Amino acid sequence: MNSAAPPSKDLAAVKGTKDILPGEVEVWQRVEAEAKRLFELYGFRELRAPVIEPTELYLKGTGETTDIVTKEMYTFTDKSGRSITLRPEYTPSVARAIVEHRLDLLGTPMRYYYIGPMFRYDKPQKGRYRQFHQIDIEVFGEKDPAVDAEIVEMADSLLRRLGVRGTETLVNSVGCRACRPAYGRDLKARAEAVRDRLCEDCRRKVEANPLRIFDCKVEGCRAEARNFPKITDYLCEECRDHFARFRGCLDLLGVAHRPEPNLVRGLDYYTKTIFEIVAGEGGQQNAVLGGGRYDDMMKDLGGPDICGTGFAMGLERLIALLDVKPEPRKFVYLIHVGEEAKTRAAVAARDLRAAGMEALLEFGVRNFKSQFARANKLGAGWALIIGEDEIRGGLYKVKDMATGDQKDVRPEGVVEFLRPRLEG
Ligand code: ATP
Ligand code: MG
Repeated sequence: MNSAAPPSKDLAAVKGTKDILPGEVEVWQRVEAEAKRLFELYGFRELRAPVIEPTELYLKGTGETTDIVTKEMYTFTDKSGRSITLRPEYTPSVARAIVEHRLDLLGTPMRYYYIGPMFRYDKPQKGRYRQFHQIDIEVFGEKDPAVDAEIVEMADSLLRRLGVRGTETLVNSVGCRACRPAYGRDLKARAEAVRDRLCEDCRRKVEANPLRIFDCKVEGCRAEARNFPKITDYLCEECRDHFARFRGCLDLLGVAHRPEPNLVRGLDYYTKTIFEIVAGEGGQQNAVLGGGRYDDMMKDLGGPDICGTGFAMGLERLIALLDVKPEPRKFVYLIHVGEEAKTRAAVAARDLRAAGMEALLEFGVRNFKSQFARANKLGAGWALIIGEDEIRGGLYKVKDMATGDQKDVRPEGVVEFLRPRLEG
């Protein structure tokens, strides 16, 4: 577009979404590549599920009293009258895919990862968007707390590989169906007693699901919640033992962590282990990742009784912590003058690319001087010059843009000449 006028408001990006442009996208690519490489070392494989899912999946999976389901979902009715939701989180999709394809019967480890966009009608602010991106990992079919520790260590390892420092790992246990009801009763009684001091939203939660009060971002509610009973004082023997062994494994793997009894996480399906990794700054948006165990989720969705554990990392929040500059690229800029040179340059560019080198060829009508200026401005490592003289003489010119050194090279020799120089 050549028009200088800004797009009308209707044509601007939807509030809470943003474009990730070249210059920034290289950082995303690096993080994604690093994550994939690392997860595969732990036996994880990619599982790509659709962006849209039936709304019931989240009502049953995520939980009807969660903030996600009550306030944040992008839900619409499609032309067939079916209620569809843009996924707000990934775990229910994986559980659905396992049931649908009976992945549990394959005998392969049920360790999956995925990187992609999630959608929540959140209040847009720094670290909080309506389309955001998660790196999500899930392990199904492993009860042992050692697996919980393994995935926390994996998350920690990814952060360290990316050079993130100064994070803190918080852990807790939210118990199971055996021990949570007694806790729920006491919690409700305490929440009822301070009901008047809670926000409107939390007053509703007192009845529906008082555990959700811990998710509230209102400072007054957070202060009240700090005095609520602690779930850790109610854990049954099995949950207590699971939590102790989880922490023991973390110690063994050398992962520093701190128990945080007020940590509950915003999803209904968690059982036993939960954890978050937080970064010092970012206020209420300081959680880089959160996760935990969900032993009943699959069963609740009507599937087989298979336990699960996993985490989701927010890519925007992770990338905000990184201090990386994309490496300058080494590429060849092809300068061509005249019709014959243009076709020759196209062939030379194809050959360079086929040999794994980046080659840029532009076709706007420009003389030699302005093409050379372009090569300079764009930061080309080398220029390949094809003009009338070069065609006549049967030798192209190859110029090192950093030193200004220039050499005559036969057309068939260009790839061979440039390959070691571009790699080095
Ligand atoms: P928060 O308490 O900040 O709302 P959450 O508990 O809703 O987080 P999870 O559902 O656990 O978040 O998602 C895992 C991670 O995804 C979070 O730790 C965060 O890094 C990221 N995340 C969640 N919601 C958003 C959002 N609206 N924008 C950007 N990142 C998000
Ligand atoms: Mg949230």
